[in-house]
Amino acid sequence: MITAVYPGSFDPVTLGHLDIIGRASRVVDRLVIGILINKKKTPLFTIEERLDMLRHSVEPFPNVTVQTFDGLTVEFAKQNGASLIIRGLRAVTDFESEMQIAQTNRVIEPTVDTMFFTTSLQYAYLSSTMAKEVASYGSDVSHFVNPYVAECLRKKFAK
Ligand code: ADP
Repeated sequence: MITAVYPGSFDPVTLGHLDIIGRASRVVDRLVIGILINKKKTPLFTIEERLDMLRHSVEPFPNVTVQTFDGLTVEFAKQNGASLIIRGLRAVTDFESEMQIAQTNRVIEPTVDTMFFTTSLQYAYLSSTMAKEVASYGSDVSHFVNPYVAECLRKKFAK
């Protein structure tokens, strides 16, 4: 039984994240998404809103669940009995910091490994930041996020 965690900010979850979630969910038995409560970042969406958007978005995947966590990712992994941390790689610019994080995590907890998925080409440019930027101008974000998240973005910027 292989359990993996997929940590991130998911502010909000994009089609790029969902592509990684779909692919990772096919190679592990159980995938637990961890929304990091990061006090250093000022998110657009509250932790409850991000949880709600992710829970809606992962309904098609029966072996995927969503939780929030603060603290170290390896601790979150251990609490969930996970032996793997999933991360997505978009470009070489992601590589350096991701490599450093993965190596640090392995020093802290050698029993937990990191598995990288390279982005599907159609999402290589996509980030939550980009989706928020486009939504802030009231433009169509259907290429970036699913309809439920698009509606949440629309409501957020309508305020
Ligand atoms: P973080 O703040 O930890 O980078 P994100 O929510 O931005 O959190 O991203 C979570 C994970 O998803 C990271 O591994 C990131 O590289 C990956 N990711 C983000 N966008 C994409 C995308 N378009 N394609 C593939 N992976 C992605």
